[in-house]
Amino acid sequence: MIYADNAATTKLDKRALEAMLPYLSEEYGNPSSQYSLAIRSRKAIAEARERISLLIGADADEIFFTSGGTESDNWAIKGTALANQSRGKHIITSLIEHHAVLRPCQGLEKQGFKVTYLSVDKLGRVSPTSVKEALMDSTTLISIMLANNEIGTLQNVKEIAQTKPIGTIFHSDAVQVVGHISIDVQDLGVDMLSASAHKFNGPKGIGFLYKKKGLQIDNFMVGGGQESHNRAGTENVVGIVGMAVALENNIEAIKETTLKLCKLTGHTMALIDAMLPDAIINGDRNERLPGNVNVSLKNVEAESLLHLLDLRGICISSGSACNSREIEISHVIKAIGVPAEYANGTLRITYSAENTIEDATSIVMAIKDCYDRIQSARYL
Ligand code: PLP
Repeated sequence: MIYADNAATTKLDKRALEAMLPYLSEEYGNPSSQYSLAIRSRKAIAEARERISLLIGADADEIFFTSGGTESDNWAIKGTALANQSRGKHIITSLIEHHAVLRPCQGLEKQGFKVTYLSVDKLGRVSPTSVKEALMDSTTLISIMLANNEIGTLQNVKEIAQTKPIGTIFHSDAVQVVGHISIDVQDLGVDMLSASAHKFNGPKGIGFLYKKKGLQIDNFMVGGGQESHNRAGTENVVGIVGMAVALENNIEAIKETTLKLCKLTGHTMALIDAMLPDAIINGDRNERLPGNVNVSLKNVEAESLLHLLDLRGICISSGSACNSREIEISHVIKAIGVPAEYANGTLRITYSAENTIEDATSIVMAIKDCYDRIQSARYL
């Protein structure tokens, strides 16, 4: 099998798994209880929070554990909008955000909020000027992702964050970035940032929201007083422990991994250019997430290609994981203006450090072969 769908999810880091095992067996104490067994779980959470905060330039009390990227995004968007209604009801975001951002925004529109969905250029970039121009006195929140999960485009979040007036809160969905590109929340100038462990070799169902000290937003999960009364629910101790180890290991190897991934994507794009000259490579060829190649092929259904590739043991994706079952053309591909005859034939290849140049060659050769077979069957 060749697995090259790492934007959908990643393989669990072995050292993360080892660190997690005790919390799946003998260390089962509820971190809110008062005896030694529970105190050990509480300490493990505190240690993980400290380690994660150091890796993104935050303080430990600015990290709030969630069930993943979707919850972090929902909390950031809804929590900010609802807490600041008396100041204003306007939100700015972009057309190419993940549905975990778009859907809460659409929900808020039904409650009387106004949302500006900024368009992007053909490489998928949001211009800082367009953010500035969209600002209103009533703008309470700007949410722009750090990197797009489909086409890998990196946004100039630092410059965009600088355009925000005092009092407007800036959130960034960094689910595809944390653990893959070194970030510092202070340097970026963000007020909130979402991350998800399963995208950086951690376990599924755990993530975090960075929330700048002093920022008051409404709670999303209500109930008990966990997470300093910010997020209710007994903590996912095993997930939290695994997430910290995975993030530390990924960041330790980040330079080496990036170099390797850039070689793999460079090789893949060169092969696509040579073997599939009609194909369109989406996004910026250089300024993109390391390991991401997004390509549109003419007059073909990506779903048919994926099926044939799966029979050959190749796992790639037709769009983002969350909408890969929908036949509908991805909103990101629409937003960057991929021509209609290409849009349905969009494939996403996302490598990890475990992939080799041979994998990349096999993937492109298999795509070419499957594509040719589909085309020739069409004319039989
Ligand atoms: N945001 C982005 C950019 C993503 O790529 C994803 C997952 O694909 C999410 C949010 C949702 O994250 P999770 O799967 O942890 O809920």
